[in-house]
Amino acid sequence: MIDVKNLHKYFGSLEVLKGIDCHIDKGECVCVIGPSGSGKSTFLRCLNCMEDPTSGKIIFEGVDIADPKVDINIHRRKMGMVFQHFNLFNNKTVIENIMLSPVLCAKKDRRKAVMHNMFHKDKLPVRPVKEIKKDAEENAHKLLERIGLEDKADVYPSTLSGGQKQRVAIVRSLAMNPEVILFDEPTSALDPEMVGEVLDLMRDLAKDGMTMVVVTHEMGFAREVGNRVLFMADGKLVEQGSPADIFEHPQNPRLQDFLSKVL
Ligand code: ADP
Ligand code: MG
Repeated sequence: MIDVKNLHKYFGSLEVLKGIDCHIDKGECVCVIGPSGSGKSTFLRCLNCMEDPTSGKIIFEGVDIADPKVDINIHRRKMGMVFQHFNLFNNKTVIENIMLSPVLCAKKDRRKAVMHNMFHKDKLPVRPVKEIKKDAEENAHKLLERIGLEDKADVYPSTLSGGQKQRVAIVRSLAMNPEVILFDEPTSALDPEMVGEVLDLMRDLAKDGMTMVVVTHEMGFAREVGNRVLFMADGKLVEQGSPADIFEHPQNPRLQDFLSKVL
């Protein structure tokens, strides 16, 4: 699904990604581990075009999204992103947070269809805005039901616990029907007793076959749920393999050293 080729990223003269090559297959849960500052977040941000790579290719479903000529908005819709600090809109209710992107995108498509119909004989369907909102709302309720938070639909995020916020953030990304979800340390900002509920939801998604790339410090999760583990250090992909390879038979001394500190 995603093929990364010789990806480099500089911030000024600082080289943060030093030639990353990897691939992510459909249905895989790929966990990315490594010390702080090794470029894990930058790597994820390049994958969904929040950062422009300095050079290299990111082939997503056959299209090089690192190419500035490509309309990344079309492709970014297919990638969900979940952040350490949830990034919910605090001035919107829980259900408004979940409905926001699907409604905006459907309205954008609607405008495109209206424009198209003004100039072409073949007419595209134009969905009424009311219907767009109703569908998004129904779907949002279903998603909240899935995580057992349907009673929180109309409250503001500030009244939720960290674990609840992160679960809302995860279903908000699901509301766009993404092909892949990128997680950047989704449990790092949580109190320990809330980590489990978020990991449980992520485990369910992986079981359902969602393609996931997860930057995490939860070695238990990487070991149990990850199909593959990538170890990054100093801007490079130093080692990758099955969880058994990485955790039982680490080859690179830097990985051995890292694991001796975190396990
Ligand atoms: P990780 O997620 O593995 O901790 P990051 O990708 O956040 O690592 O950061 C890798 C390196 O890039 C760090 O040295 C960090 O200071 C630097 N960096 C990250 N983002 C920026 C930025 N926007 N501008 C300048 N330097 C940055
Ligand atoms: Mg990071």
